[in-house]
Amino acid sequence: MADLLLRNVSLPDGRTGVDVLVDAGRIVNVSPRINADARETIDAAGQLLSPPFVDPHFHMDATLSYGLPRVNRSGTLLEGIALWGELKPTLTQDAIVERALAYCDWAVAKGLLAIRSHVDVCDPRLLAVEALLHVRDQVKPYLDLQLVAFPQDGALRSANALDQLKRALTMGVDVVGGIPHFERTMAHGADSVRVLCELAAERGLPVDMHCDESDDPMSRHIETLAHETLRLGMRGRVTGSHLTSMHSMDNYYVSKLIPLIREAGVHAVANPLINITLQGRHDTYPKRRGMTRVPELMAAGINVAFGHDCVMDPWYAMGSADMLEVASMGLHVAQMTSQDGMRACFDAVTVNAAKVMGLEGYGIAPGNRADFVLLQARDPVEAIRLRATRLKVFRAGKLVAETPAATARIDLPGRPGHVDWRLLR
Ligand SMILES: [Zn+2]
Repeated sequence: MADLLLRNVSLPDGRTGVDVLVDAGRIVNVSPRINADARETIDAAGQLLSPPFVDPHFHMDATLSYGLPRVNRSGTLLEGIALWGELKPTLTQDAIVERALAYCDWAVAKGLLAIRSHVDVCDPRLLAVEALLHVRDQVKPYLDLQLVAFPQDGALRSANALDQLKRALTMGVDVVGGIPHFERTMAHGADSVRVLCELAAERGLPVDMHCDESDDPMSRHIETLAHETLRLGMRGRVTGSHLTSMHSMDNYYVSKLIPLIREAGVHAVANPLINITLQGRHDTYPKRRGMTRVPELMAAGINVAFGHDCVMDPWYAMGSADMLEVASMGLHVAQMTSQDGMRACFDAVTVNAAKVMGLEGYGIAPGNRADFVLLQARDPVEAIRLRATRLKVFRAGKLVAETPAATARIDLPGRPGHVDWRLLR
């Protein structure tokens, strides 16, 4: 007898009326009307069973610190970086661990079971690195946490940052980070990309850089990142995060750049909530949106994912680990309102994000670990529209979170109160 049978689920690829059989923590069968017994059977009534949400870009060392030591008054990226600099010397390992674990609780409740988090390596004590390595181990049974060694103050610009970054990698951090647009000059930015990519190639590690998070159309470090990826044979293992300067670039230049990114197999991560909030701050009107060219990158065959980036930290006062909110903002900012466009936004917080992180065995298919989320929605578009309730969240076949469906307690004669979000479709 198997452990778990879900009857009549819909899948993100459009299949409906599918059963999913789980045993010993793995998916063993995905097909219509499975003839098997299980210790527990759930009738999904046609609702959407999605692989878990994946956040490919986050800052877990800063999360839930909003207001410490003060609030970001201008709301800009640069005041956020300055504020983080004020907060850093007062951080304790216990406080970082406690906030990170609290965020992981939120994440699991929202069906978000894999997160790539940058961790600042510019503090000589590497407190946050130690704290998040500890958190990575602690949450492993229910959440895949991947860490990026992130030189927030500049790998070359900040004294000893490069040595501290190497120390963090030796301690077990998974990915090499960078921030070329924050180095002192364009030339230093390009140097930092080269040095960091060489370091990653030497150690056999992936790369994920904050790249061109700027409205300056001349911020073109993505070009160097793609070139270094090709030169060092790192296709598929390099990610350019943010890429907001692409929004403002000359169209002719972009027509050459996008094929280069594609050729290099560099993944792109947009952070819609943060990009729409932080970019265009020097504009009067019209104000640029600032998010990178998501539909154009996707159309060129580049893997594009959406990240949450910040939740209640020096840069952003909002957020709740809800990747459907991220997908919804991405959809609006990129004007991806066609049926295909909306489904692509769902992919950007699930399957595409899993590719960025290099997750193996991701997806609802036989042989994979039984990780999935039952949503109160019939399909990906409805899930985004409703920020659908995560009815049940499973990790390795075990229920790790559940949320009851919304119910209205109103009784009209002959019409018992209920909430059916799907009534009008
Ligand atoms: Zn970031």
